[in-house]
Formats: sequence, structure tokens, C-alpha cells
Amino acid sequence: MRNYKHILLAMDFFENDKAVAERAKDLADKYQAKLSIIHVVDTMPITDSGFGTDVPFNLDLTKELMAEAKKKLAKLAENLGVAEEGIWLEMGSPKTEIIRVSEEDNVDLIVIGSHGRHGLALLLGSTANGVLHHANCDVLAVRLQDD
Ligand code: AMP
Repeated sequence: MRNYKHILLAMDFFENDKAVAERAKDLADKYQAKLSIIHVVDTMPITDSGFGTDVPFNLDLTKELMAEAKKKLAKLAENLGVAEEGIWLEMGSPKTEIIRVSEEDNVDLIVIGSHGRHGLALLLGSTANGVLHHANCDVLAVRLQDD
């Protein structure tokens, strides 16, 4: 079986993604792999292009979300024993950023959550589906218990 060297845990900080974090930590321990964490502040829903230009009225909200996410990431990193250099807080499209960081930081396994509640077809467009189909490395989709 393959020995993973660098695992990237993708966290959206919904309540039930604790199981995803636990799985990533278990695997990192098992393989003696480096563990990194990524959270992406999704700017898509708060960018209003209906005015013809991207109006920066959401700047404060974005800053607030970034600050909040930074705290959550720091706490999680402490719990999982992840060093500062393994913490990624990005802005943009979660799928794109998770894949970009995985490639730039030589990740060989991405661990994400998967709802799977509406069947594969309706997963189209979800972060989990996007990462599964576009990542260059292995992806472990941990089934979330919300369905
Ligand atoms: P989704 O398919 O969008 O419901 O998300 C499933 C999984 O993708 C989550 O459990 C996370 O592992 C990951 N994910 C979704 N959104 C984000 C985000 N903004 N930042 C980091 N990971 C995310």
C-alpha cells in the first residue's frame, strides 16, 4: 500500500466535519505524513456583479470571515498538531484553491467531506465533486453523517 507523505485536510467548518478532521489526523499518524489544513473563504456568493462591476461593498464581511476563519484554523491546527506553515487560509473558489494548494505544496492525499445525500448527479458543482474530478493526487471523500 502507498505511503502518503503529505495530507491536505479541507475544512469548511460546518459542525459535522469533525469526522473529516479525525480521519485526516488518523491517516497522518498512520503514515507519519505531514498534515496541512486549508480553509477557503468563498467569495462567490458575496460578490455582486449585478451592478456591472464587482462592487466592494462586501469587503468588511470578507475581512470578518477571514478573521473568524483564522481563529478556527489556529484552534484546529493546535488540536491536530499542525505547524504554522501547514495552515492555508485562502480566498476564492474552494475547489480551485484546494487543488492549487495541493499542487503547489506537493500534497499526495486530499481529505474532504462528502454529503452524497442527493446521489452522484446532484453532487455536480459541489466542492467534493470538483476536487475529486480535478485533483492530480489521491482524494479521500469522508461521508458526512447529515443525510
Ligand atoms: P461540499 O461538497 O461543497 O458540500 O463540501 C464537501 C467538502 O469539501 C467539505 O466537507 C470540505 O472538506 C470541503 N470544502 C467545502 N467548502 C470548503 C471551503 N470553503 N474550504 C475548505 N474546504 C471546503
